[in-house]
Parts: sequence; structure tokens; C-alpha cells
Amino acid sequence: MHQLTLAEIARGLADKKFSSEELTRALLARINQLDPQINSFISVTEDLAISQARAADARRAAGESGALLGAPIGHKDLFCTQGIRTSCGSKMLDNFKAPYDATVVSKLADAGAVTLGKTNMDEFAMGSANESSYYGAVKNPWNLEHVPGGSSGGSAAAVAARLLPGATATDTGGSIRQPAALTSLTGLKPTYGRVSRWGMIAYASSLDQAGPLARTAEDCALLLQGMAGFDAKDSTSIDEPVPDYSASLNTSLQGLRIGLPKEYFGAGLDPRIADLVQASVKELEKLGAVVKEISLPNMQHAIPAYYVIAPAEASSNLSRFDGVRFGYRCDNPADLTDLYKRSRGEGFGVEVQRRIMVGAYALSAGYYDAYYLQAQKIRRLIKNDFMAAFNDVDVILGPTTPNLAWKIGAKNNDPVAEYLEDVYTITANLAGLPGLSMPAGFVDGLPVGVQLLAPYFHEGRLLNVAHRYQQVTDWHTRAPNGF
Ligand code: GLN
Repeated sequence: MHQLTLAEIARGLADKKFSSEELTRALLARINQLDPQINSFISVTEDLAISQARAADARRAAGESGALLGAPIGHKDLFCTQGIRTSCGSKMLDNFKAPYDATVVSKLADAGAVTLGKTNMDEFAMGSANESSYYGAVKNPWNLEHVPGGSSGGSAAAVAARLLPGATATDTGGSIRQPAALTSLTGLKPTYGRVSRWGMIAYASSLDQAGPLARTAEDCALLLQGMAGFDAKDSTSIDEPVPDYSASLNTSLQGLRIGLPKEYFGAGLDPRIADLVQASVKELEKLGAVVKEISLPNMQHAIPAYYVIAPAEASSNLSRFDGVRFGYRCDNPADLTDLYKRSRGEGFGVEVQRRIMVGAYALSAGYYDAYYLQAQKIRRLIKNDFMAAFNDVDVILGPTTPNLAWKIGAKNNDPVAEYLEDVYTITANLAGLPGLSMPAGFVDGLPVGVQLLAPYFHEGRLLNVAHRYQQVTDWHTRAPNGF
């Protein structure tokens, strides 16, 4: 049963081949048996899962239907879940039980999805390797010595290892698409504002966006349908109708204009990844797409701009964790200053502390104009590049990552080397655009992803292109050895 996709599960439940409770128990047993190898869960919510599965079975017995009714999923551990630890991968929130559900969590629960647990992640979603979690590194099921990508590495590893058919994740600079690429999954970062951020612990508020990780585009469509929509509780949520994402999956690609940015194929890209990306382009051409080279000239400025803006926003967002109101508090503080200093010093890990320092510096009087304001200007130039490109093409295609999944620990002494892994994903966050990564092959047994970007609110187009590609390729159906 663990090999079933969400779409297959929906059919199996509708045809009464199995119940949600049976499926949920089978997956919980698999998590208990296999997760010690990959460490993809921070909390397994067995009791909640069984009671939600029974409720879903009862709703079906009463005549209700729905693609997610009874479907088992996991939530990245930065979505608040009422009464359940919501740690954000940090010692700071190790003792935090959220008093309410995030909008994403409650919407999926209303649709009947069953929560099996909270997945591991880089601390406060900062990272590209899932090594900075207080709960230990996550391992890539394709090769246990390698990273699964981050920061949504727990969600990705769990789905890749067939412990879950799908999971929620978030993407601030690539944290859905990059782990999708490194674990051979399909992952979608929606347009900024498409999915509510309410109840999602903030990293960089102008960049954060929640989305699905699953094995197929078809499954991502089902999950996005359950997540997307206006929410008055999030002031940046956009009041646009949500299209039927499953309905457009099979649209023909005849005449689809694909842009290949020349900057995405230059120095720094592993040539073996470049070859697989080109092979995916050939497949899409066979399906009727036409390809042209385009340019995104300001892309080279994206990493420096992001690593000013994201830490600046993080330094502000994380100021609330002060040892006073909630979260970790140090023992026996001498006075209030000591309480702040030691609670934050002991509660946050090194990468989080580094980002807070960089961010506070970039925002400080005298440096704000030199760094933060400059970075925001670059952000506009990057957006303008995309707007110009989308006058000529319908989607932009390139590699999701410049390199394969690296060995755990290989970049630990060089944070900048890890930052550079986000070179192709970060621009979509700076511009607020939707992006998707889909499996496109393997090198030395490690997965490779292809990234597709589209204009605002064209998630349906991304899912359509990926779905058509998945009809003629089988990369997304392969499972890692031992899982
Ligand atoms: N790797 C990037 C960072 O550390 C992106 C993380 C994310 O998307 N949450 O900021």
C-alpha cells in the first residue's frame, strides 16, 4: 500500500479496496520500522492519525467523497498544530505546543487529510541540507550518507522513502524545490500569497510560501487544491479564485513556449545535470513545446540580495523568542539581560545566530541604505527580468540545483558553499513567482531535478507541464533501494 500515490489512494478509498484506518496503520508501522534510518519525523502523531482516519472513514460511509478524504500526510514542523509540539527544528521551541492550527493544517484537515506526524527540518527553515535541526540531520533515502536537501528535508525524505504519499513544506529560497530535486520528488512553491501563511512560523515573511511535496504532479495538484485560497487572517493572502488544478493536468503542450535562461547553464553547473536537463527539454519538444534561449541578466545578484533580505527579516521575526513569553528559557537568570542573552544563546543553533547577526547588522542605522535598500532594488530588477522574459515564453526551464546531493557534513565548515546551492531557486522567491521541481533522472544513483517557473498564479501550467512529462517518463515512479 505504501507505493500508492495520493490519486491512487483516493480511488482505492472510493472503491472500498481499503479503509483510511488500514492505510494509516500500515504507514505508521512503516514509519516505526524505517524512520530510524532517515530521521524524517520530529513527532509521530499516532493517536491523532487513527482518530482522523476513523472520522474520514465515517464521512465516506455517510456518502461524502473528496480526493483527500482519508489521505495520510505529514506537516513540516513549522506549521502550528493545536496541542502538538511545533518545534521549527529548534531547541527554542522544543517545549512549544501550538494553541491553534495553521490555516494550511485546518484546511487540509477539513478536506479529510490524516496527519501522521510533524516532519524534520532545518532550524527555523534556514538551510539547504537539513543538517541544522536540533533533532539531528535527515538522511537521503537514495543514499544514507548524503543530505536530502533542506530546509524541508524531513518532508522530502519521508515521501521519497514511501513513509507518506505527500507532505506539506515551505519555500523561502528553495526549500520545497531543492529537496524535491535531491530526493526525486515533485515539489511546488506557489505564487506568493496563493497559500495562507497564518500559523506558519515565520522565517522571512516577504519570501515564505507553503506548498506540497509529493511523488507526482497529479498529487501536488490535489494537495495544492486543499491548501490554496484567500485567508483574511494573512494580510498578504491574495483574493483570487482558485482554479481546478486537476482539470488542466492533461492540457496539450502543443505550441508551449519554453525559455531556457542562458545564465542557468553557465559555470558552476554539474555537466551531468546539464545533460539530463537537456534530455528533459527534448521530451517536452516531442510533446509539442517550442524552445528558445532567454536571458535573466540580474540573476548573478540574487544570492547576495537574498542573503541580506532573508536574514534581515529573520532577525526581526525571531526577536519574539526572548525567553519571556514562550519557548526555551535558561536556568537561573541573574537579571533580565542575562535571561535574554542566555535564553537566545542556548536556544538557537549556530546558523540561526549567524543569520540574526547578519540581519541585525544589515538593518542597523547607517548600513540600512547600503545593504537592505540596495538588496530591495536588486529584487525589483530580478522581477523586471522575469516580466520581460514572460512576454516571450510561457514557462522558464532549467536545473533546480547546480550539484547532486552532497555528503552529510561536506559543507559544514563553509556556510557560503551551502548558500550557493540555492542559485537557481532563490530568484522565484525574490520575485514572488511560482516554481516547480520534477524528477528528471539520476547520476551515480542520486536524483536530479528540473525546475519550471511560470508567471504569477500559473501553478496550473506548471502542474500541466510536469504531468505531461510524467506521462512519458518514469523517473518519478522509481523508489530508493530498501524503501
Ligand atoms: N537555503 C535557503 C536558506 O537557508 C532557503 C531556505 C528555505 O527556502 N526555507 O535561506
